[in-house]
Amino acid sequence: MTPKTETHEFQTEVKQMLNIIIHSLYSNREIFLRELVSNASDAIDKLNFKAQTEPNILGDDAEFKIKLIPDKEKRTLTISDNGIGMTRDEVKENLGTIARSGTAAFIEALGKSKDTSGLTPDMIGQFGVGFYSAFIVADQVTVLTRNAEDEKGTRWVSTGEGDYTIEETEKPGRGTDVILQLKPVEDDEDDFTDEWTLRRIIKHHSDFVRFPVVMDVEKEETETDDQDNPLLDAEGKPIESEPKTVIKEETLNSMKAIWTRNKAEITEEEYKDFYSHVSHDWNPPLTHLHFKLEGTTEYTALLFIPSQAPFDLFSPERAHGVRLYSRRVFIMDNCKELLPEYLRFIRGVVDAPDLNLNISRELLQQDALVRNIRKNLIKKIFEMLEKMEPEQYTAFFDNFGAVLKEGVYNDWENRDRLTKMIRYKTTRSEDKWRSLEDYVKDMKPDQEHIYYITGDTITASLNSPHLEALKEKDYEVLLMIDPVDEFVMQNLTEFEGKKFKSAEKGDLDIETPDKEKTAEFSSLFDKIRVHLQDKVKSVKPSSHLKGSVSCLSGDTYDMSAYMEKLLKASGQPIPENKRILELNTNHPVLDKIHGLFEQDAEAEALKDYSQLLYDLAVIGEGGKVENPSKFNKMIAELMAEAIH
Ligand code: ADP
Repeated sequence: MTPKTETHEFQTEVKQMLNIIIHSLYSNREIFLRELVSNASDAIDKLNFKAQTEPNILGDDAEFKIKLIPDKEKRTLTISDNGIGMTRDEVKENLGTIARSGTAAFIEALGKSKDTSGLTPDMIGQFGVGFYSAFIVADQVTVLTRNAEDEKGTRWVSTGEGDYTIEETEKPGRGTDVILQLKPVEDDEDDFTDEWTLRRIIKHHSDFVRFPVVMDVEKEETETDDQDNPLLDAEGKPIESEPKTVIKEETLNSMKAIWTRNKAEITEEEYKDFYSHVSHDWNPPLTHLHFKLEGTTEYTALLFIPSQAPFDLFSPERAHGVRLYSRRVFIMDNCKELLPEYLRFIRGVVDAPDLNLNISRELLQQDALVRNIRKNLIKKIFEMLEKMEPEQYTAFFDNFGAVLKEGVYNDWENRDRLTKMIRYKTTRSEDKWRSLEDYVKDMKPDQEHIYYITGDTITASLNSPHLEALKEKDYEVLLMIDPVDEFVMQNLTEFEGKKFKSAEKGDLDIETPDKEKTAEFSSLFDKIRVHLQDKVKSVKPSSHLKGSVSCLSGDTYDMSAYMEKLLKASGQPIPENKRILELNTNHPVLDKIHGLFEQDAEAEALKDYSQLLYDLAVIGEGGKVENPSKFNKMIAELMAEAIH
């Protein structure tokens, strides 16, 4: 038999998270209330949704509310809801672990750094501290909860110091009570048992919560209501009615679902608070989009673009940010069907009044209404992005450009429009974003192609030897440093009739190598190829190089060096892919090597020099030489000979 009270350790990441939260959010501690009220409201939403198909689940308690119960003497604050509650297993799962692995990894990285002083609330706000924020203000938290369909409840208690206890308990109603044993108040700090403090916080952070947030408050009342039956004293004389103090439940929030309100009446502050509520991000959003579509497809949307990319934007299990409602009844969180993957950074709500409430997640994708909404949402978001002021678009693209580009290779229908929205830094843009339209507009009169290079960093790409000839021609080159660019370029072959051309693969089509020189060097190049036969498939005069002596390139359809690196990093098997060694026939060093070759085609030194030419090419593209110590020795020897 399992013991009545079990003690469990928190998952390591939870401990780290608690540590970070308590130490870095103290000056923002009032947000704990918003987080707990949000959880309560979500729990009621979930129950309300279930009740659409199972009305019996509500029993005789159909009046949804979230109640705050402050107790000055005991110094406790209880946040009580009659929402869906949790089963024992759910309590363990939700209040002891961090489910999202992206979050866990992020916390682990933060936790390792030990020094949490540099952490700002904005950074922590990103991953949503949720329930755990209770420990900013409480030195002990008790959760009493009963799932709507369970007989028994569960009690969870923790001081936030490493473990928690869990046991079965009686709980009269369904739902959850979170009881905070508050830390002592110091000096002029807020007292969270104070009526006016609580009123202020709820009004500020949780006004739009759809369910009443109530509290018992004292009111002065005179007993004048029952004039026909006045209270009589022992002698039968009416008692003079005196004002007396009564306790009444009062609703603290206006409960207006913000998206149903008139745009003109909503302040930026209200939008921001609502954004924090749906996104758990404390930074103000970059912008919002609020509209109502009428007609055959009817829906209201209030969407936000965050001002900062979340840390887990590229983690595969990252939640989508849109909540789906129908006539203010919550249907689901993270509704993937409403937006394509490449718009996964958008947060907010969509309320579609005609949506069938019984729809399952599986069927959503085939639902004609959902499909129409999705199509329309994409259009509206595109319009918003296209209309943005350049400065705001830059801020947007800095954060989400790499995600938007995914659309270019997986949203065939919108590819052309998306292609116009993407931006690149270029050899001429000085770290600014350039559109392809601008690139084409500024092409040199004799320039036929749009040139690009893929790589790790802007600096490495900018200085790549492959660009030497293009730079001399003053042709602009797009610098592609997002891994996604490799995939984009597989699907993007031309723009406004101009073909894309890799600066590192195939010929550049800008000048033909000198025929005489090619003939002169051909037997030397054959020899070099033999010496390097394990590494390169051919050796040829370069059309890329001006200052450097060698570089590696690929045939037009070969994999780029960066792609190879990406695949290697992800542990994928890479097909054998030998590259081409390009040599600069105008470089004096080649004349010297040629001289040596003419004297003795079998000279041992030729082998070493071939290797050196190859190593220099590898280094030129930011790669690692195979045998650094041999490379080191050879260069040192050559220097010793050269310096007089
Ligand atoms: P989040 O709300 O971001 O998911 P939290 O840490 O705040 O993260 O909560 C974790 C989970 O615990 C919630 O997703 C929910 O399933 C559950 N939970 C928290 N508070 C309540 C509540 N008042 N009623 C029911 N479930 C709750």
